[in-house]
Amino acid sequence: MEDRGAGRDRPPVLMIEQFDELEGYCRTLGHYLSFRYCRRVNQDLPCPVIRDCWFERLPIDQFLERHYSPEQLASLQSPAQGKLNTILGLLPRS
Ligand code: SF4
Repeated sequence: MEDRGAGRDRPPVLMIEQFDELEGYCRTLGHYLSFRYCRRVNQDLPCPVIRDCWFERLPIDQFLERHYSPEQLASLQSPAQGKLNTILGLLPRS
C-alpha cells in the first residue's frame, strides 16, 4: 500500500512560476525586469548569468535543477557570446 504521508517532510516543490513576479536590476540592459524574463530570455531557457544575478534572492540552483535538464543547464555554460549578441539576446521580443 502506498504511503501517502511519505514526503511530507520534504522541501516544498518549486513551481516554475513561483518567482516570476520578483524584480531585479539587470546590469546588461540597465533597467529593472522580472525573474520571469530572466528564466525565458534565452530561447525559453534561462539567461546564461541567471545564477549570478539571483543567487542572493532565491534558491536559484535548486530552481534550475528542478526545472531544467542537465543538457539544458550545460547549454547555459557554453562559451560566452560576444557582447552585442548577448545584448540582442536579452532584448524583449515583440
Ligand atoms: S539574469 Fe540576465 S536578463 Fe536577468 S537580470 Fe541578469 S543579466 Fe539581466
